[in-house]
Amino acid sequence: MNLVMLGLPGAGKGTQARLIAQKLEIPTVSSGDLFREHDKKNTELGILARDYMLQGAYVPDDVTIRMISEWVSSQDGSKGFILDGFPRTINQAEALDEMLSNYGGLDMAIYIDISVTEATNRISTRVLCSVCQSPFSLLDGVKEGDPCNSGDGGVIYQRPDDKPVAVEERIKVYSRETQEVVQYYRTRDNLKTVLGSISIDEVKHEIINAIKSLENKKYGINRGSM
Ligand code: ADP
Repeated sequence: MNLVMLGLPGAGKGTQARLIAQKLEIPTVSSGDLFREHDKKNTELGILARDYMLQGAYVPDDVTIRMISEWVSSQDGSKGFILDGFPRTINQAEALDEMLSNYGGLDMAIYIDISVTEATNRISTRVLCSVCQSPFSLLDGVKEGDPCNSGDGGVIYQRPDDKPVAVEERIKVYSRETQEVVQYYRTRDNLKTVLGSISIDEVKHEIINAIKSLENKKYGINRGSM
């Protein structure tokens, strides 16, 4: 199963990508996490991407496509993978089609649909673990500087691009660029839309059910109750 996750910042792409990847036992990667790793390590890619990220702008396609294509070619691809945060432009979607030509193509684009108001609210209260990147909410009494409850030694922090000015820009860019990508997959009949405002567990079940029916249809596999 080769899957991509689409949706506004804060829609829950990363959370669902991790849950589904665990269930299907396939790797997943977030383009944002990859950029943050490159940034931390001061690599050429990290230096190129840094300013765009801070402003909430998209990193140029050539840089992003290079980074993801390096990741894809480092995978054996036998069971597939989930990309979270890529593609976000039509150029990237076309580049992905090419990258996946040796990996059986894209099976499904999962679009987690939430409103701009909900996205803005979620991001303004979102903090993350510096190690596992798990999200927490300030509304649950978690504070910056707290230790992560997974015991991985990580510290809770707020992403610099989760501050209001950058968030506004990220949402604007998303509406301008990534809605077109949603349409790109819709036209190809490759899109599964899931409402993101229901619970994490319900979203997960909807996605798993969509994957199950796709597997049934495409490969005649019946995983029973996943
Ligand atoms: P979110 O989905 O919450 O906006 P991410 O962690 O996925 O945040 O991405 C953070 C930043 O990394 C983006 O605002 C952008 O600058 C950069 N980025 C990530 N993925 C892409 C992409 N596919 N194309 C261009 N820029 C990207």
